Amino acid sequence: MPPLETTIDPITKAKTTAVNGSLIEARGISKHFGDLHVLDNIDFALSPSEVVCVIGPSGSGKSTLLRCLAFLEPYDDGNVYIHGQLLGYEQRGGMRIRASEKAIDRVRAPLGMVFQHFHLWPHRTALQNVTEALRLVQGLSRREADREGMAMLKRVGLFDRAHHYPASLSGGQKQRVAIARALAMKPEVMLFDEPTSALDPELVGEVLAVMKQLASDGMTMAIVTHEMGFAANVADRVVFMDEGRIVESGKPETLFRRPASERLSQFLNTWR
Ligand code: ADP
Ligand code: MG
Repeated sequence: MPPLETTIDPITKAKTTAVNGSLIEARGISKHFGDLHVLDNIDFALSPSEVVCVIGPSGSGKSTLLRCLAFLEPYDDGNVYIHGQLLGYEQRGGMRIRASEKAIDRVRAPLGMVFQHFHLWPHRTALQNVTEALRLVQGLSRREADREGMAMLKRVGLFDRAHHYPASLSGGQKQRVAIARALAMKPEVMLFDEPTSALDPELVGEVLAVMKQLASDGMTMAIVTHEMGFAANVADRVVFMDEGRIVESGKPETLFRRPASERLSQFLNTWR
C-alpha cells in the first residue's frame, strides 16, 4: 500500500486521507430498475480536492449515479469504495450480501449530499435545520451545536438568517441552509444533485458562488448540473452521461470546445 497522506481542511477541520489516491471509487457499477438498465458498467473516481461536474440529458442516469455513490440506491453490480472500503455490501462465505445499515453509515460518513429540493424541516429555523444532526447523530450539546451551526451558516453567508424559518427564506437561501447542514457533518466529499435547478434564475448565482468558494477551499465535489458556465469555470473534470453510460470525460476546455462524440455535440447545442 502506498503511504497515506493526511491533509486537514482549514475551515471544516475535516481530515482527508487519500487511499490509492481516490476518496470515492466506483468500478463497473450497474443498476437496473426492473428491465430498465439505468447504469451500465460505470467507472467513476474522485480524488481529494477534485471537482467533477456530471452533465447529460434528463433520464441519462446522473441522479442514480450519485445516489449509488452514497448507497441511497443500492447498485446491482460492481463496487463502490470510499477510502478503499467497500460501500453497501460485504463478502461472507464467498457470497456478497448487503451490509448492515450501521456499516453502510460508517463507510459513507465522509459524504455530504445536497439535492435539488432542499428537504428542510419547515417547522425548524435555519439554525435548527443545521444543528439537528449535530445533536442527534454526533451528540453535541445545544451550545456546541449552535456554535458549529452558526459557523456553517456564516460560511454560506446566512449568519443573519439563523433564526428564520424556511418559509421566510428565498429558494437560494434555503439551498444554502441545506449546504450548511451538509457541511456541519464535516464531509470530505460533497455530492450535489442539480442544486440550482429548482431555483428562480436570479437566485442561481448565490448558490453557485457558495459552491465555487467550497471548491477553492479544497472541498472534493461531484456536481450534477446543467450550469455549463459553472462547469467550465470550476470543474477540474467534466463527465458526460447518456443512456446510463459515461460517453466522454475530460477537462472542461476539451469537452466543451472539442466534443469527441456526436451525442455530446448535440447535447451542448441544446444548451447554447
Ligand atoms: P437523470 O438524473 O440523468 O435525469 P435518473 O438517474 O433520475 O436520470 O434516471 C435514469 C432513469 O432511471 C430514468 O429513465 C428514470 O425514469 C429511471 N428511474 C430513476 N429512478 C427510478 C426509480 N426509483 N424507479 C424506476 N425508475 C427510475
Ligand atoms: Mg436527475
